[in-house]
Amino acid sequence: MKVKSPLEVYKFLPQTNCGECGFDTCMSFAAHIIDRSMKPENCPPLFRDAEKDQKIKKKLEQLIELTSPEIAEVVIGTGDNSVKIGGEDVLHRHEMTYFNPTAFFYDVWDTMGEKELEERCSKVVEFRKFYVGKFLTLDGFAIRCTSNDPETYRSVVKKVASYGKPMILISMNPDCMRSALKEVADYKPLIFAATESNWEEMLKLALEFKVPVTIRAKDLNLLKSLAVTFKSAGVKEIVLDPVTEPLGDGLKGTFERVVNLRRTAIQGEDKDIAFPIMITPISAWLIDGDDVEKAYWETVIGSLFIVKYADIMIFRSLEPYSVIPEVTLRFNIYTDPRTPVQVEPGLREIENPDENSPVFITTNFALTYYTVESDLTSAGISSWLLVLNTEGLGVEVSVAGGQFTAGKVKELIEETKIAERVKHKVLVIPGLAARLQGAIEDETGWTVKVGPMDSGRIKGWLENNWPPE
Ligand code: SF4
Repeated sequence: MKVKSPLEVYKFLPQTNCGECGFDTCMSFAAHIIDRSMKPENCPPLFRDAEKDQKIKKKLEQLIELTSPEIAEVVIGTGDNSVKIGGEDVLHRHEMTYFNPTAFFYDVWDTMGEKELEERCSKVVEFRKFYVGKFLTLDGFAIRCTSNDPETYRSVVKKVASYGKPMILISMNPDCMRSALKEVADYKPLIFAATESNWEEMLKLALEFKVPVTIRAKDLNLLKSLAVTFKSAGVKEIVLDPVTEPLGDGLKGTFERVVNLRRTAIQGEDKDIAFPIMITPISAWLIDGDDVEKAYWETVIGSLFIVKYADIMIFRSLEPYSVIPEVTLRFNIYTDPRTPVQVEPGLREIENPDENSPVFITTNFALTYYTVESDLTSAGISSWLLVLNTEGLGVEVSVAGGQFTAGKVKELIEETKIAERVKHKVLVIPGLAARLQGAIEDETGWTVKVGPMDSGRIKGWLENNWPPE
């Protein structure tokens, strides 16, 4: 995206504040274009006027160009069963944020036994790991054609499609690919891969079935030349695979190719290669060694390229020691550094509290909230927990910064109607908010007790301080 501020976008808008886009003002709409929750095409008057007036049409095209991400966005799948990849604007997350997390696909193959296939597909679909208030999940299936038989491949692809996840179809044989596409093109799978030797057939398939395509070449000049050919032929959704080599100089070379591709696309503004990048950590299964060793290298490669520019990956190992580090690292890299991770403010019930249970308060910064909640739960403390909206900041920072105030505590007490749930009017505040004790008492009329600095010590603190005198 070449425009960086709402004001720059505002200049292109009708500036009538008509509200048709769902926002009260054009400036507010412009701010949502910058944060990528809206697109220029969501302003109906601008579109209508562009149809009648060439000058406005040009202006609209210019706005679309200026607000498009540097790396093209590719969608695999449809509706709720889709995943977006690419769409990035920066090389380093600290410059702004990354938008679309690396998508994780897991391989299955068409010569697997039926039971084995079902078990593996179910594992991918059912994987969920709770982490900082979110469930981390896996994205889809990469279906390898190992039979080299169009009919076998078609029937297995059909089965896998029934699991409702996005798919990558893997076959270098255009006949097998065509057979699978006839069955599942409506699900918009990504096809893998067009190479120097089969690109003409794969290009025809991508155009005929309107599906995104992966272009694969280790030589970056060849990769670019194939991308230009596909783009000029009308294929808009392209994924680049610069070939992942798992060990030694091969891995070093893969790293250099990936960095080169992304730098040239963003810093060099080379639109011919400004497409999402595919990495295949699954290549680690080609090295010598036992399965644990292969899974180890697969995880190492995955981790490296989550940090450095991979938009989509194909894995094999579904062992927890492989999957958990990958999904956790991905979550952390793709969390917007400008927005602290937050939970919903409000009232939580911990371990079936009653009218005599203590009332604690904490902030809605996810890490603080989950620490307090898990300390209370694991110690079996029946209690009420008020969660204050501090805009995702922790206790100490929000007290200092004015997000944790006596006035806001009063509002939260009133909104949650906690006074109707307990017989007492005693609020326990975190030790780090001790300086607000008097102000909260004055503002709310509740008695305020200062709890420990560390929620892990609440149990011991209660033994001496609860019930209150
Ligand atoms: S629809 Fe367009 S003109 Fe109307 S308020 Fe939104 S941005 Fe402004």
